Order: sequence, then structure tokens, then C-alpha cells
Amino acid sequence: MNIKSIFFVKISILLLLFSSCSTVGFHRPSIRNQIDFGESAAMKVCFFHEKDISKKDIHKLVSAWNRELNLYNITLVNPVNAPVYERPGFYNNRIFLYLFNMKLTDPCDRVVYLRGRKFKDLFTEFISILFLLFTGLKFEIHGMVETATHSRGIIKAKYVNLIQLFVTSPKKTLIHEGYHLLGCGHSLTKTKCYDHIRKLKQKMKQTGHEEGFFPILTNDGRYLDSRESVNKTILNLFNER
Ligand SMILES: [Zn+2]
Repeated sequence: MNIKSIFFVKISILLLLFSSCSTVGFHRPSIRNQIDFGESAAMKVCFFHEKDISKKDIHKLVSAWNRELNLYNITLVNPVNAPVYERPGFYNNRIFLYLFNMKLTDPCDRVVYLRGRKFKDLFTEFISILFLLFTGLKFEIHGMVETATHSRGIIKAKYVNLIQLFVTSPKKTLIHEGYHLLGCGHSLTKTKCYDHIRKLKQKMKQTGHEEGFFPILTNDGRYLDSRESVNKTILNLFNER
């Protein structure tokens, strides 16, 4: 990957940084219950995890996200849990570069990198907690999803500090980023997101759709109906810049 591509990834991540500390909206059960989300569908999410993330941690995360997805008649399937022995880089843009270099292949519909906790992370957390206490602003990034295809994300899967747990948790982060992986943006309520998920599930019935692939409906209305179309979209982005 050339320098321009790396620069592009850095810029993309920077934009995501600004957008990540918000909400995907409060639930509106009265509205959600009136929507027909169609037949049951499986979304297959592959995890790449650092070595301090245990099977038990992953199981807890999958269960929490599954409970949320069940609201839309979606079942989370976790076919791959691949350990990453060395983090591709300290900053998330390096990890995204690693994820972008990876083609989306069967059986994965989405790929999530579970970031662990190293000494450098502890130092960053300490600084961010001080910042939070003195300014009330949270600059620590708990999770991110790329906006080009919504197929790849990173979450911090290990917190131990009480202040952090008070603010958020790995489960909450995964559920939040999970909505971005479905293509939902930030909003005050989930009303728009419900409609987005309904449309996404409807699209799955279209002819030409790659069998078994949980598709992607981007913010600008593009429908990615196969892993190949997701990979092409990413390749085109790098070639354009
Ligand atoms: Zn977000």
C-alpha cells in the first residue's frame, strides 16, 4: 500500500474520531414494535483478538450483541476467532490498515478487531481519565467503524478501571459499533436506524444477492450484496486517492 493510501486511511480515521463519541440513539420500543423486520437472518462476524482477550470475554460480548440484534430478528454468528499475536500498531489507523489489507471472505460478513490492554494503553487511559476529570471531555476512543463499507471495526475489549466502566463497557461499545456495522449513524433516537435495518433485510431477498452474505446498505444508499462488492469498494477507494 502506498503513502497516499496510508494518508487516506489516516484522514478517514480522523473523521471517525470526531464522530465516535456520540450516540446511536435511544430506543423507541413503541415505534420498533410496529415494524416488521422480516424473516430471521444470520450475520456472521469474525473476530481478530489480542491474546489477553479470552474465549469467555468473547462469549460475553457475543451474547450481549446477540440480545440487541434479536430485536430485529437477526442472529449473530461468530464463526471465526483468530488470535493476533502482535498488534499491527498502537494507533487505530494502523489497525485499520491491517483490516483494510484483509479481504472479506466467506464465512465473514463483518470483521471486528478486539483490542486488548498493554502498558502503553494504561498510560493513555491514565491521561484520558485526568482529562475527563478536569475538563469533563472524553477523548479516549472505545470503538470505531470505517464508513466506506461498514464492514470493519475495532473495539477496546478490555477495561478494568472503574471510571471507564462508569462511562462505558466493552459490551456497550460493541453494541454501539454494531449499529455502525449495520450501517446506522449517530442520532438522538433509533427511529431512522430501525427503518434502515428493515430496508437492509428486505434487500436480502433481491436476486443476485450472494447467498448467505449479510449485506451492507451504506449511508449514501449503495447496496453491497456480496463480499466481492465490498472488497471492490475498498480497492476503488485506495485507487482513487
Ligand atoms: Zn458511533
